Amino acid sequence: MRVGVGTDVHPIEAGRPCWMLGLLFDDADGCSGHSDGDVGVHALCDALLSAAGLGDVGAVFGVGRPEWAGVTGAAMLAHVRGLLDAEGFVPVNAAVQIVGNRPKVGPRRAEAQQVLSDLLGAPVSVSGTTSDGLGLTGRGEGIAAVATALLTLK
Ligand code: MG
Repeated sequence: MRVGVGTDVHPIEAGRPCWMLGLLFDDADGCSGHSDGDVGVHALCDALLSAAGLGDVGAVFGVGRPEWAGVTGAAMLAHVRGLLDAEGFVPVNAAVQIVGNRPKVGPRRAEAQQVLSDLLGAPVSVSGTTSDGLGLTGRGEGIAAVATALLTLK
């Protein structure tokens, strides 16, 4: 078994589509970034790469890789799953927590878990919390995410 950890933070950009946890939220502003700004998927990918010892999201998809500009969270997760498979790793499970005021994760938790679990081929649990008005997430300036992942070898 191999465990990994991932974290991500992006600024919120007014009027930008809000892609989060592989879903489009119509009632919130999205995050800016080199990709679609899905901090939940970014943290999840980082945790998976961390567990496998394959580096991080910045190295695989970063601004130095223009071919990945605008990439969706779904495409990123599918690519990471392929990298893991090529190295002989099989995802066991993963967990992602969003820290922010909006979007609200709870009402769409089951949908997000289904989408991410299908993409990863293993159970992904999703949760959300706020920072009680403190810091960049509390002021609504950005959204953060934390993830863990567990892998086993084929
Ligand atoms: Mg990111």
